[in-house]
Amino acid sequence: MLKERDSLWYKILKTKYNDMVPSTTSCWWKDLHSLCFEEGGGQWIEGGLCRKIGEGNEVNFWHVNWLSSGILKEKFWRLFNLSVQQNYTVKEMGRWSNGSWIWELLWQRPFLHREVDMMDELMNIIANHSLTEGTPDSWVWTKEEGGSYSVKSAYDLLQRDVLEPLDKVYQNLCSIKAPSNVMCLAWKVLLNRIQSKENLKRKGIIQDTSQTTCPFCLAAVESTSHLFFTCPKSWQVWISVYRRLGISVVSPEEGRAHMLMFLDSCCARDRKSGMSFI
Ligand SMILES: [Zn+2]
Repeated sequence: MLKERDSLWYKILKTKYNDMVPSTTSCWWKDLHSLCFEEGGGQWIEGGLCRKIGEGNEVNFWHVNWLSSGILKEKFWRLFNLSVQQNYTVKEMGRWSNGSWIWELLWQRPFLHREVDMMDELMNIIANHSLTEGTPDSWVWTKEEGGSYSVKSAYDLLQRDVLEPLDKVYQNLCSIKAPSNVMCLAWKVLLNRIQSKENLKRKGIIQDTSQTTCPFCLAAVESTSHLFFTCPKSWQVWISVYRRLGISVVSPEEGRAHMLMFLDSCCARDRKSGMSFI
């Protein structure tokens, strides 16, 4: 959708959805949108995308990652606040002179001493980038050498970001001797795929925020962590379990930490498998 804007399929999708996700749309489209763009699960795609400057007339100088080193507004927020060109495109930030590109950045006032260093750093970064007349701005997928998106590189990116920190928990989960429905529930808790009221609200199934309250304590939003760990009712259950096991711990407030705590709380193998089961 970013590259083939003249294509028929792009125009159809754009006309039908216009970057929106209407409530009547298919769950497939909702999932795709949520995976790619929403906070929490999404946004990973932006981490792999960078603009490649051609004429520079489509790309915002401060707000878009076009240097592959990050967004200038975030990197030089102090200079951004001083700029009088905060919403200018790259092309509007300079001019051509005898075939050479000259940057012309304008400021609200002269720089203080420490701001001069920042300005030098900024100029060093952008000095290596020149515009190309007659070439449209394009997109580059930074996770692949050729700059073209591939499913494999996106898969690798997601695996690295999501699964690595969870490996130990998942490895242990696979080896636990517990009924499959219990294992399935544990997976869902770890991945926050429980049909909690918070998740139902996120999916648009519950519309009203007042309906997301936990029915046990009536004092907090019913999220996965709340339901299983931090709600006073669940808390009492865990406290009884700890007491029965004779262990004294500070109970973690979410699934992964909770599971690791049980796994780490003893070393003996037979006792460990019992703890994992619990
Ligand atoms: Zn509660």
